[in-house]
Amino acid sequence: MPHDFVGDEAIRLLEARLRQRDNEIAVLRETTQAIGSELDLDTVFQLIADRARELIQAETVLVPIVNRDCNEYTYRAGSGEHADEIIGESLPLDFGVCGWVWKHLRPWWRGTLSELTPQERNLWEGRAGTLIMVPLIGHRHFLGGIAGMNKRGGGEFNRNDLHLLELFAGQAAIAIENAMAMENVDQSRRLAQDAQIELQRVNKRLSAANRELEYLSLYDPLTGLPNRSLFRDQLRRGLETAISSGNALSLMIVDIDRFQEINDTLGHDVGDEILRATAARLSVAVGAEGAVGRMSGDEFAVLLGRNGQDALQLARQMRNGLVQAIPAGDRELVITASIGIASCPDHGKDISTLFRCADAAMVAAKHEAGGIATYDEEHDARLPGRFALAVDLRKALDNREFALHYQPKLDLATGRLAGVEALARWPRENGTAVPPDMFISALEQTGLIAPFTYWALETAVAQRTAWLRRGWNISVAVNVPLSVVMEPRFMAELSRIVDGCDVRNGLLLEITENIFLGDYDRINEVLAEVRAIGLGCSIDDFGTGHSSLVRLRQLPVGEIKVDRSFVMAMLDSKDDEVIVRSTIDLAHNLGLKVVAEGVENARILETLATLHCDVVQGHHISRPLPVDELEKLFGTASWATAMAGRSRESK
Ligand code: C2E
Ligand code: CA
Ligand code: CA
Repeated sequence: MPHDFVGDEAIRLLEARLRQRDNEIAVLRETTQAIGSELDLDTVFQLIADRARELIQAETVLVPIVNRDCNEYTYRAGSGEHADEIIGESLPLDFGVCGWVWKHLRPWWRGTLSELTPQERNLWEGRAGTLIMVPLIGHRHFLGGIAGMNKRGGGEFNRNDLHLLELFAGQAAIAIENAMAMENVDQSRRLAQDAQIELQRVNKRLSAANRELEYLSLYDPLTGLPNRSLFRDQLRRGLETAISSGNALSLMIVDIDRFQEINDTLGHDVGDEILRATAARLSVAVGAEGAVGRMSGDEFAVLLGRNGQDALQLARQMRNGLVQAIPAGDRELVITASIGIASCPDHGKDISTLFRCADAAMVAAKHEAGGIATYDEEHDARLPGRFALAVDLRKALDNREFALHYQPKLDLATGRLAGVEALARWPRENGTAVPPDMFISALEQTGLIAPFTYWALETAVAQRTAWLRRGWNISVAVNVPLSVVMEPRFMAELSRIVDGCDVRNGLLLEITENIFLGDYDRINEVLAEVRAIGLGCSIDDFGTGHSSLVRLRQLPVGEIKVDRSFVMAMLDSKDDEVIVRSTIDLAHNLGLKVVAEGVENARILETLATLHCDVVQGHHISRPLPVDELEKLFGTASWATAMAGRSRESK
């Protein structure tokens, strides 16, 4: 029956629809489960492509995904015909169907055509029907889309396909976001792990560096002894126990005699050897009863839980131990040391007092036959301890307590004044005169030598300028330690000081001879700059250190100063005379002027004249004088004549 036939037909159709529906739902459920449990992003994309293709019976499905910067999308996965050719391709976000979907956040399919402007319609009409695309919209962002192309077996994608794909896209977006979040977590975890490993490595290095730093900050690397700060700490603790238990405690300062000389003449390696040997011998002598530390250069300190009398006894043992020959290189050296002792509670109960007293005693010991002295108040009066000195230096510098005296230099050929050397003096309020050697080396040790030197240069420049105004063209030499010359800011400071003053050609820098030890290229460079701005350079204390002829020849200096120790001894010692004579010859061969300092008497002056020394300086000509006295001397016309006479006499 027609009716029945129609009814059967309708039922069959409906059943077919239902089966298809069931099938679709099954695919959808299965798919959702599959992608929902997948956490690898690329697998998720691939699953989406494959399952979507099944779902809407498309020949090809592509999954374009917006990249991180939201300016492009990339086909991250695809399934079906030609998919492989497109995967990996990137396009601008506002381009093509994907761009449309991104702009409208709605699916694209045939039904959309009616909503388009006529132009858009023209553009898309041909492709509509074979193309379907739904957006993938995540929790917060537009992620991309799922695009199906060409219905299998021909025909168009229908509304049912659209619904299915939309439904599917909703689940897919969640899966994508989960996988993305997972990827981020993974990435962060990997980063965190890497960071952890790096952190462990850095930590290890840090603790090694810390250990080394701690060692360096507490121990002297040369001798392995506690350094000044650790020793002071040991002393502080020792003092606390001594005072609370009523026991005695003694502090000794041990200073190697003439160490500087050994260092200068035999070299730093030998010097180091001596310091190491001294440290070892002191440690043996003191044993477990006390502590030894290296305070600075050639100075050691010993802490002993005993009274002054016992300390004196130990000091004698230590001194005897030190006198044993020390093998140094291919020779054996015998050194002596001076020891100063101060005790708690007799001389003081705090660290600085004990140090000051022991130090003053050590300085006194230098002048005593036995080389050992226990502190008594007289020591303080004679010489201030160097520790107290160091504290005062800063103040002295700030308060401009230093003064420059000037010592004339005489030109032997003309009998005229060749210039003056500026020599620093420290007239202290309490009346004690601190020898320049001592406060200069204290300034060097306390890092104040640079500001001091700039002060000296400024003062000397001002003095030369003042003399020039009175018509006296007097060349002034200033002592500048090599360490200051090597400072990066030296040239800038020097230029600042001489800038605008007519001091050039009349300002001379006396640089000590350890110039032969430094970074030669840099020294050369700086001295050339000094010369370029019109200043002269002289090598001071020549003969006492490590001279190198080759270097001397290449250095841009105009003059050398033979050290006073040779000049003063040249009449009595053949060796010293030979040194002076050959130094003069050598310098002349290199075209350098020679100045001899320490000319204490007429006989030295005569000898130097016969050796053709160019310039002389010394007590015989004049002591270093304060400005007013020096000016008085210049003012007397007789001085120039007398000087001229002296140089003639000595020829
Ligand atoms: P120096 O540069 O070798 O200075 C020459 C030293 O010899 C001066 O000692 C001077 O007074 C002394 N002298 C000069 N003629 C005679 C003499 O006929 N007989 C004897 N016995 N000595 C003589 P001073 O003034 O005690 O200075 C000692 C050292 O202190 C200087 O040795 C120099 O190294 C340093 N010094 C002095 N003033 C300064 C300064 O302003 N800056 C720097 N960096 N060092 C300075
Ligand atoms: Ca000098
Ligand atoms: Ca000298």
